[in-house]
Amino acid sequence: MKIPSDSHSHSKFSHDGRESADKLIKKAESLGLDYYAITEHLDRDYKYCRSERFIPQLRLKAYYRAVKRLREKYSNSNTYVAFGVEAGFCPEVVEWYQKKLPEFDFDVIINSIHTMDGGDAYFGKIFDGKTQDEIYNRYLDLLLASVKVPYSYDIIAHIGYVTRYVSFENYTLCQDKYMDKIDALLKEIIAQDKTIEINTHIKHKEMSFLPERGILQKYFELGGRNITFSSDAHLSDSIGYRYDLVRDIAKEIGFTHWTVYKKRIAHKIEIE
Ligand SMILES: [Zn+2]
Ligand SMILES: [Zn+2]
Repeated sequence: MKIPSDSHSHSKFSHDGRESADKLIKKAESLGLDYYAITEHLDRDYKYCRSERFIPQLRLKAYYRAVKRLREKYSNSNTYVAFGVEAGFCPEVVEWYQKKLPEFDFDVIINSIHTMDGGDAYFGKIFDGKTQDEIYNRYLDLLLASVKVPYSYDIIAHIGYVTRYVSFENYTLCQDKYMDKIDALLKEIIAQDKTIEINTHIKHKEMSFLPERGILQKYFELGGRNITFSSDAHLSDSIGYRYDLVRDIAKEIGFTHWTVYKKRIAHKIEIE
């Protein structure tokens, strides 16, 4: 099974990456990808978190120097290697991204939410003493705010991120009581012609990707057509992870193309 594209991954330029960009790119080439993106964590939102502010930030200039070198090195590769960042949103960082992001000619910018009110959901602490409704409503409000930011971006990352880490029995975001907010979010994404990624970097007993199928289905019903496959690989062995599953579900829903970004321009790849 050929994997045509993968829009999201991390090398050791990211605080949680382990392998060199070179190693990742070589793996993507060996898998025969037509398009492969390295999208390092730019977690400016961590600066506003209690513990995460001590995690080293991406050295943007050093990363960008490496990008220029790697673009040169792989300019004749059969795999188009895209470079970008996964910019972590919180309301306080908007101005900084607005100023900084245009300084670099990245291929793709992923707009992402990991933190809520001073902590990354990954570490679980932000949920202490809060009800599911409080957490999910707050998350959906932040997501809508992140979609409306004035800085330029292309892809909206892992919608439903918080559901990965909660311990509620009914963890799903696809509940009637959240549907008005989900509708408003998807309509805004469609109005802005942004792309939703289907992200397979998830360890969960029932979910294999995000967003959940119900949200993807709703997006399609509302007229949304821009989706992309994202392994969110932090290791070369995870590039293309669960591609077959995601491709089958995307096709079942009715999607016909993946959307990928080269120099910030959207390109469509047929889902075979
Ligand atoms: Zn992420
Ligand atoms: Zn990521």
